[in-house]
Amino acid sequence: MNDSRWNKIKSHMDEQQLEYLLITEPKHVGYLTGFFSNPHERFLGLAIPKNDEPFLVVPSLDLEAAKAVSSVSTIRTHSDTDDAYTLLQQWLGHTKGQRIGIEKDHLSVSRFERLNAVLGGSNYSDVGQILTALRAAKTPEEIEKLRRAAHLIEAVLTEGLSHVKVGVTEIEIVAELEYQMKKLGAEGPSFDTMVLSGDKTALPHGNPGNRAIQAGDMLMFDMGVYLDGYASDITRTFAVGERPNTESIKIYETVLAANLAAISKIRPGATLASIDAAAREVITEAGYGPYFMHRLGHGLGMDVHEYPSVHGNNEEVITEGLCFTVEPGVYVAGECGVRIEDDIIVTSDGVDVLTTFPKELTIVG
Ligand code: MN
Ligand code: MN
Repeated sequence: MNDSRWNKIKSHMDEQQLEYLLITEPKHVGYLTGFFSNPHERFLGLAIPKNDEPFLVVPSLDLEAAKAVSSVSTIRTHSDTDDAYTLLQQWLGHTKGQRIGIEKDHLSVSRFERLNAVLGGSNYSDVGQILTALRAAKTPEEIEKLRRAAHLIEAVLTEGLSHVKVGVTEIEIVAELEYQMKKLGAEGPSFDTMVLSGDKTALPHGNPGNRAIQAGDMLMFDMGVYLDGYASDITRTFAVGERPNTESIKIYETVLAANLAAISKIRPGATLASIDAAAREVITEAGYGPYFMHRLGHGLGMDVHEYPSVHGNNEEVITEGLCFTVEPGVYVAGECGVRIEDDIIVTSDGVDVLTTFPKELTIVG
């Protein structure tokens, strides 16, 4: 296991006087052991006793896969006919009346009840936040994975744009984009690929459909991929066929200025709220304040939306290694919407923008 992650887990257990830690969120198990797996309804967990060696519990069908990569050398298995919870209690031993750390955001009530029935802990402490904090500080290896995921989705966007022409529908473009994702080596989309055209661009969370692209439309792409376990998330908005109307151009230039203003303020020591404010000021000054009705961005990593939330009331201070999106938007119903989204990493003295796709207003199709 990665030493600094391991040390932080151990010191958290000491501080909280936890006798046992049980990690069951599959990405967290992977983050701590190197074994990433979706167990579906089967039990997967990393058990960390305070005074004993940690062990990984996997369904027996995953034993060989886990052995090949897990940094935790003790791997225990359960078959489909076993009760994994009873086995877990036997492996852990004296759990009755002890303080046990679990992930309260992840463990369902029914799983918790089964677990508690066999372990009988005196107290269950939530360890989700320590894992969230660990995950927020990206290592150089993680940053390179995030960068590759960003570059891959940009290659997909370039391919996708070559298929844009008047008459093609939103959903046809989505199909082409998702085909290109796989073809270029992604594990898959990091969320449902969004292509919206014309007045539908004014819907921040609209669904792509059978609307055919027309000259004079604005055309918005919001999409990402998973590559090597890490997500990207980019939005670019284009004009189709011809120069759009004056209002659309003004909206576009406002959103672009807001995106650049926010990025220019990112550095260790600034608050997340101040970054949101930098973008919001530009949009408000241009008269579109009420039309930017969502937060500036969100953390990005093994999940496409993770800690932290970048919004106007988040006074948390930015630290080196944080990865988040900067995605201001203006959505004017009946006119158009524009959003420009980049993925950034906080460096020791500023910012490294992972997404490099050009942002000046471009006419496509
Ligand atoms: Mn997005
Ligand atoms: Mn996003």
